[in-house]
Amino acid sequence: MALDFTFTDEQRMLEDSVYKWAINWLEPQMEHMYEIDEMPKDLFKQTGELGINGIVFDEKYGGAGLGYVETLLAYETIARVSNALSMTVGASQTLCFDNFRRNATEEQRAYVLPKAVTGEWIGCLGITEPNAGSDAMSMATKAEKKGDKYIINGSKIFITNGPVAQFMVFYAKTDPAAGPKGISTFFFEVDKVKGVKFEKIKKWGMRTSPTALVTFEDMEIPAENLIGGLNKGVAVLTSGLCTERITLSGCTLGGQRSCLELSLKYAKERVQFGKPIASFQTIQEKLANMYCGYKAGKFLAYSAAAYCDTLTNKSGGKGTDLDRMAAAALLFNGEMGTKIGLDAIQIFGGYGYCTEYAISRHFLDQKLWEIGAGTSEIRRMIIARELMRDDFKSGL
Ligand SMILES: Cc1cc2nc3c(=O)[nH]c(=O)nc-3n(C[C@H](O)[C@H](O)[C@H](O)COP(=O)(O)OP(=O)(O)OC[C@H]3O[C@@H](n4cnc5c(N)ncnc54)[C@H](O)[C@@H]3O)c2cc1C
Repeated sequence: MALDFTFTDEQRMLEDSVYKWAINWLEPQMEHMYEIDEMPKDLFKQTGELGINGIVFDEKYGGAGLGYVETLLAYETIARVSNALSMTVGASQTLCFDNFRRNATEEQRAYVLPKAVTGEWIGCLGITEPNAGSDAMSMATKAEKKGDKYIINGSKIFITNGPVAQFMVFYAKTDPAAGPKGISTFFFEVDKVKGVKFEKIKKWGMRTSPTALVTFEDMEIPAENLIGGLNKGVAVLTSGLCTERITLSGCTLGGQRSCLELSLKYAKERVQFGKPIASFQTIQEKLANMYCGYKAGKFLAYSAAAYCDTLTNKSGGKGTDLDRMAAAALLFNGEMGTKIGLDAIQIFGGYGYCTEYAISRHFLDQKLWEIGAGTSEIRRMIIARELMRDDFKSGL
């Protein structure tokens, strides 16, 4: 039984190349970009060259044909420098394009995926609405069929990459009276439609990851831009949630790891009362807790990813072990990320409160992971539901 995260040589090479790039290309820009809240130009072209964009896509689309362990590892490694930009890459590649890949036709995939892989296109995914967050099924955006077109009206909020996206996948009601059974999934190319507006939202954390309020006013899209079948949107939506929760755990894990590494270095260097602060037991307690939390969360996330990679159907969903494991990975890591971030700021004292120190960004970004991709409360509901399943017998 090997439970020591022995990565293959290929996985180690991926980690090394992503980390070198993140430290050499991203890190020097981060303080300024965070201040002005802009995504670094060419980010997706760079991640494309690194092979991250199409990491799970088939080689025929230019992808690397790897799995969710590699995706998680890539996202964790980017997040060692920027949790926010790791989320932005994940929102495009996993939330938007990977979900599209699962549900689109072969012809649609062949047209869209190569552009995602090179970074020519950035994607975004629209589920959340101003009045439909955790209760996503109560969405109000409508798609009405008129001839060979759908007319879209409504809005989506908190859409990661909205302000910079060339491609969007979103959900809308095609039969409002049918509730969740009347939701369908659509996509469009931003520069091929009229009647859509992307307005940037100001945030105090996850800066550099652009977020939008998206408004649709009589936006017309071709009827063939429906994917996954009419009124089958819930199946499409849930088919992506597990891999999203597992791989996005990497965003918080990378931030946690940097909080620990930076705190350890600082605690050894910072001298008070004639000694490094690392010699004080209350500081050591924080470092020890950070280590335990990071390692425990890492186990939850990578074991879920490794399990997912063994499955033929990687969609998970209600009634599957993957659903529980994915929700647990992000629940634990989201809450641990906030705790570890707080401990790190405390170790840095007043310097931790200053934006010139990377630790402040790591801390600010962490809180999102108790909210985004389904809140902690919703993840607990999913885990409890799966534990209480009559046929639940494995996984403890
Ligand atoms: C930076 C950022 C990026 C995001 N990116 C995207 C994106 O790309 N695409 C997208 O579609 N969405 C995105 N989201 C939206 C995110 O998924 C939602 O914010 C989240 O699902 C919660 O919805 P809400 O904010 O409306 O909160 P609400 O659902 O209003 O919840 C408010 C509080 O009530 C609690 N609550 C709600 N229902 C229950 C219940 N039944 N039992 C107990 N407690 C409950 C919640 O847990 C929370 O604590 C993003 C959000 C942020 C902040």
